[in-house]
Amino acid sequence: MLKSKKNIVNEISKLKKEKNAIILAHFYQVPGIQDIADFIGDSLALSKISEQNNAEIIVFCGVLFMAETAKILSPQKKVLLPDLEAGCTLVDSCPPDEFSKFKEKHPDHIVISYINCSAEIKALSDIICTSSNAIDIVNSFDENEKIIFAPDKNLGAYINNITGRNMVLWEGTCEIHDLLTIERVLNLKDKYPDAPVIVHPECKAQILAVADFIGSTSKLLNYTKHSKSERFIVATETGIKHQMKKHSPEKEFFIVPSDENCMCNDCHYMKKITLEKVLQSLEEEKYEIKLNNKLMNDALKPVKKMMELSG
Ligand code: SF4
Repeated sequence: MLKSKKNIVNEISKLKKEKNAIILAHFYQVPGIQDIADFIGDSLALSKISEQNNAEIIVFCGVLFMAETAKILSPQKKVLLPDLEAGCTLVDSCPPDEFSKFKEKHPDHIVISYINCSAEIKALSDIICTSSNAIDIVNSFDENEKIIFAPDKNLGAYINNITGRNMVLWEGTCEIHDLLTIERVLNLKDKYPDAPVIVHPECKAQILAVADFIGSTSKLLNYTKHSKSERFIVATETGIKHQMKKHSPEKEFFIVPSDENCMCNDCHYMKKITLEKVLQSLEEEKYEIKLNNKLMNDALKPVKKMMELSG
């Protein structure tokens, strides 16, 4: 017999207490998952929480690279990902063997990698950044430092533009953000001319060029909380709307659609996580993230460097 949503939520809550587990959820998760999470946030916030809390089990409602990062930061904890197919196009766009060869072609460059990459790419990097702290991390290096930025070329180009650097960019993209077009943004702007356009920096340069505000998911959320505007055009994944609406129920949010037949641009990887899978994950303690010690140690150094710099 199918369990009701209420029963599933109750069972999750009971198991969490019995097993000393916590649930972390990224802003791009479906509302039902965000509502049962102990902590909701962007990659940087969730990385910090996974390291700082006393839980023995972390159920990571996000995608594989996020659960790997939690494991790297807390190797003594059991980190579970409710669906192992929750991947990421940015990870797929940067295979470690090809990236190693790319690095060899630029032997005098240091490597700054966006946290949206595999553990193997982290291990090949000098320092990690998130979309919240990327500009500060890049600016922490001397302006003459030669830098490779991987894997997101849109984020890298945006940082080059802001900081005046000339970082060599790996040609990766997040397909969810990269599919958004300036035409779709301008269509919404025609309809709602008073609404500021707020954009995640994984979007293309043409979209960033018309933005009133550019920032990570947590910065976009903060902007909507504190802005006097009553409506917003939001260029990022759909999941963020749930928190925006929760914090500002009187405001309106128009998510830029990725195609004309669909008013949604969901990350299908993020949306693989369901309440049923979270319950199963807690019951059977699956799927446990396991990484070999050398990889964890090598990936930890650049992640720790970022944490030290970003406070
Ligand atoms: S939204 Fe983009 S970067 Fe985030 S998990 Fe999905 S594919 Fe990866």
